[in-house]
Amino acid sequence: MRLNDKVAIITGAASGIGREAAVLFAAEGAAVVAVDVNDAGGRETVDLVKKAGGRAEYVHADVSSSRDCARMVQAAEETFGKLSVLFNNAGIMHARDDDAIATDEDVWDLTMRINLKGVYLGCKHGIPALRRGGGGSIINTASFVALLGAATPQVAYTASKGGVVALTRELAVIHARENIRVNALCPGPLRTELLMKLLDTEEKKQRRLVHIPMGRFGEAKEMARAALFLASDEASYITGANFMADGGITAAYVTPT
Ligand code: NAD
Repeated sequence: MRLNDKVAIITGAASGIGREAAVLFAAEGAAVVAVDVNDAGGRETVDLVKKAGGRAEYVHADVSSSRDCARMVQAAEETFGKLSVLFNNAGIMHARDDDAIATDEDVWDLTMRINLKGVYLGCKHGIPALRRGGGGSIINTASFVALLGAATPQVAYTASKGGVVALTRELAVIHARENIRVNALCPGPLRTELLMKLLDTEEKKQRRLVHIPMGRFGEAKEMARAALFLASDEASYITGANFMADGGITAAYVTPT
């Protein structure tokens, strides 16, 4: 098993990538602290893990709250003895996120608080615990939009994910000699609720699909598998990476710098 003896916190575990990661990480031997603000969904994820014979606990925590992030880390150490993997995955894509003119400040602030500050707070409280456990792996969910302009304007979301990529790079360098690896997982467009709510007509879906070399949306399960690799010791020499899992979009549109 690829995560034997590891303890993983996964934020945004009530649905999508986070849920799939919780199920997969537990199947690979990890004890999972499933974190979300959606209590029903979070508990359902824990039930799924337990039914499959895995270990998991649900913790209600809003990643934009420092107190809540401290509590989720404390829960990992108290319940399972340590922290080895921190998957900062919770995120929102606000329905009123648009171009700079149309996007209200409250939408900007909320998006930054959850998508960017949430990752910082996860690291702020998680890194000391990883140190106490002798090191580990942090995976921060960014997005392909951090690297290329998307056709659908969503300036707050894009800026927040750009911030996640920059923050990840910096943390990777700072903590490289402490056996703590920090990588950004950059998913392409996925067939999850988050995106399908936005691409709510066949025309909008097709407009996005045209740009994906693989010609299909990604699956949350495929992101969970990429996160599993980054979480595991198989990725032992990988830190500070923008790990693209995007069906080839960046290969087609981004010029390496
Ligand atoms: P999702 O909406 O299914 O899952 C996100 C989860 O985060 C939800 O369970 C939600 O309740 C939780 N969450 C929201 N705010 C929170 C908060 N303040 N504290 C704790 N939990 C909170 O979406 P997903 O597609 O699984 O997204 C997971 C991550 O992947 C996000 O960071 C998202 O930006 C990123 N991403 C998604 C896509 C896509 O196409 N779906 C593409 C690139 C990146």
